[in-house]
Amino acid sequence: MKAHDGMYIDGAWRPAASGETIDVVNPVDEQVIDRVPAGTAADVDTAVRAARAALPGWAATPPAERAARLGALRDVLVSRKDEIAETVTAELGSPLAFSQAVHAAVPIAVAGSYAELAATHAFEEKVGNSTVYQEPIGVVGAITPWNYPLHQIVAKVAPALAAGCTVVLKPAEDTPLTAQLFAEAVDEAGIPAGVFNLVTGLGPIAGQALAEHPGVDLVSFTGSTAVGRQIGATAGAAVKKVALELGGKSANVILPSADLAKAVNVGVANVMSNSGQTCSAWTRMLVHRDQYDEAVALASTAAAKYGDRIGPVVSAKQQARVRSYIEKGVAEGARLVAGGPESPSAQGYFISPTVFADVTPDMTIAQEEIFGPVLSLLRYDDEDDAVRIANGTVYGLAGAVWAGEEAEAVAFARRLETGQVDINGGRFNPRAPFGGYKQSGVGRELGAHGLSEYLQTKSLQF
Ligand code: NAD
Repeated sequence: MKAHDGMYIDGAWRPAASGETIDVVNPVDEQVIDRVPAGTAADVDTAVRAARAALPGWAATPPAERAARLGALRDVLVSRKDEIAETVTAELGSPLAFSQAVHAAVPIAVAGSYAELAATHAFEEKVGNSTVYQEPIGVVGAITPWNYPLHQIVAKVAPALAAGCTVVLKPAEDTPLTAQLFAEAVDEAGIPAGVFNLVTGLGPIAGQALAEHPGVDLVSFTGSTAVGRQIGATAGAAVKKVALELGGKSANVILPSADLAKAVNVGVANVMSNSGQTCSAWTRMLVHRDQYDEAVALASTAAAKYGDRIGPVVSAKQQARVRSYIEKGVAEGARLVAGGPESPSAQGYFISPTVFADVTPDMTIAQEEIFGPVLSLLRYDDEDDAVRIANGTVYGLAGAVWAGEEAEAVAFARRLETGQVDINGGRFNPRAPFGGYKQSGVGRELGAHGLSEYLQTKSLQF
């Protein structure tokens, strides 16, 4: 798609307050493919005012009508799915097939789920002599990252609109074209002016202005822990609700009774998918010491097969960051069994699929989120040891458990301090709550739990 040179505010593309722009770069060939306006506090203020003005009308719109608009939005996304996939591929660099199967398809499923939930959710209930109403929280400031550019927008905007909230979105500077395409879809779906507004711009300028704006009632943020902490502190000082999704360092625990080859192969695929830029990726594989050498051999073979089939990471900054983590892994004594820090291509932000063996729980690569195609294999002695290692980071977003019997895996999963666990390769469920324990965040996205983040209760006693 061709970039807009304005902001989508109050139902129209309006000129930005400043003439500054942000280059959009294709990570495969490092070429500038377009430019979008760099929003300032003035644009954010105009957008928040539009969202405030639209709030009473949208909040009072019957849920069935909000559901109909969300259904229309879903239909527009379906009709433009090829364009979505091409746009994500152009600015994120992910292979087209992955963009089609995940970056376009998942947001369509999520938008559809909220069209249904808006129509069926009980916004009112009787509790003894009270009637409890679930009312929209108000104006939502949504700040999203680049790794699943459309999914993260839809996972915030669709439940917010279903709840009756209005929204100002500040998308990641690396992937603004997908956000502009989404704004076009909102417009085409007949969602009233001011209900959804888009301000493109840099995080410390437009993002910070949105997070600090007194006209915003709830900030929903996905991204790095450092920025999340800052947004949480700002919201706390203003006594404002905040939802934070801050990444993870999830464990893939292979119990001795599991199908080892399957667990390792699926585990490697999980980490390499989206070039490792998935906050819920199982970047630590935990294997019993008796099966460890076999698992290392399987993982290095599996990673080598990925070769150049994975796309680049999103930017030169991310490439440098991931390479420095790989160098740190080597320096701290982990053993490289696939990939390494050298770039496999002279052009583009590529990283070789990388696997480390002999990783110990205290190493940096076993503790910090790398956000690249890098897998660490750790040894455990027994189940208690595996639980200790799995829970031994500040994060708790996701994980996986593999065992011969489901019940054994479930019993182990119940001991993990994490918000999501896939049992024997369980499939992604767009209606299951997604979010973190510990420093992986505050709040939940997706499904009914995601909807309730945007609602507050009022009790009337009779
Ligand atoms: P980031 O946190 O800087 O950016 C995420 C979003 O926040 C973007 O829209 C950005 O513009 C905005 N932002 C940045 N500074 C802000 C500020 N001061 N106030 C308000 N908004 C601000 O993340 P990044 O630099 O793109 O990536 C750095 C690391 O963060 C990654 O390597 C990865 O570890 C992690 N990350 C995690 C996720 C996730 O899904 N949890 C997504 C992206 C990045």
